[in-house]
Amino acid sequence: SDSHFPIPIASHHVDYSLHYPQVFASSDEVQVSKKVQFADIGCGFGGLLISLSALFPETLMIGMELRDKVTEYVKQRISALRVANPGQYQNISVVRTNSMKYIPNYFEKGQLSKMFFLFPDPHFKEKNHRRRVISPHLLDEYAYALGVGGIIYTITDVEELGDWMKACLQSHPMFEALTFEELEADPVVNLLTSATEEGQKVARNGGQTFQAVCRRVQPS
Ligand code: SAM
Repeated sequence: SDSHFPIPIASHHVDYSLHYPQVFASSDEVQVSKKVQFADIGCGFGGLLISLSALFPETLMIGMELRDKVTEYVKQRISALRVANPGQYQNISVVRTNSMKYIPNYFEKGQLSKMFFLFPDPHFKEKNHRRRVISPHLLDEYAYALGVGGIIYTITDVEELGDWMKACLQSHPMFEALTFEELEADPVVNLLTSATEEGQKVARNGGQTFQAVCRRVQPS
């Protein structure tokens, strides 16, 4: 249950120096004042974070994962990568939390520039739709944490969930779909399937995926 992991009362109570020790040990003011900008929600085994680390070496990113053992695995995976590759993988970390409840405890208004919801659990039955990580109510919270221009990436291999996530985003006044050209130009879009463990599984099985990628906009 939630009582098994610490819950910060506000984002400034999170000691991010524990997550990114090398970055925060710097004598450079710019480095030590950095804030997390990317959040991978339900990060699973951390494949996306590891790929993004090299693509955005100056950006701090965090995975949020509910399962204790999976979170520990990701922590160890990152530690091992840091040891084997000195100076690299210093910008990624993971926290065990329930993202459906505690996103506002981790991030300030407008702090994030990217949020990922990749292959979330489908919760098929209608009475369980309230457990879905994308919903009209939760999108209000994500819109709060994302800065204007920030991007939310969603993907699934479950068509019905893909339709649901797209519909929630399309009907929210603070999100606007990226155009085809913008999707083509964004190097992160390909990673949604190629870098995630779930995406790789779907690709191995020749399955289809359904994505919705939207920008946080100022409502008119
Ligand atoms: N994103 C990863 C990928 O694509 O490989 C993992 C996808 S996996 C199917 C969904 C993950 O979301 C699981 O690891 C699960 O434990 C996590 N999860 C489910 N509900 C969550 C919640 N409320 N907060 C944080 N993580 C959650």
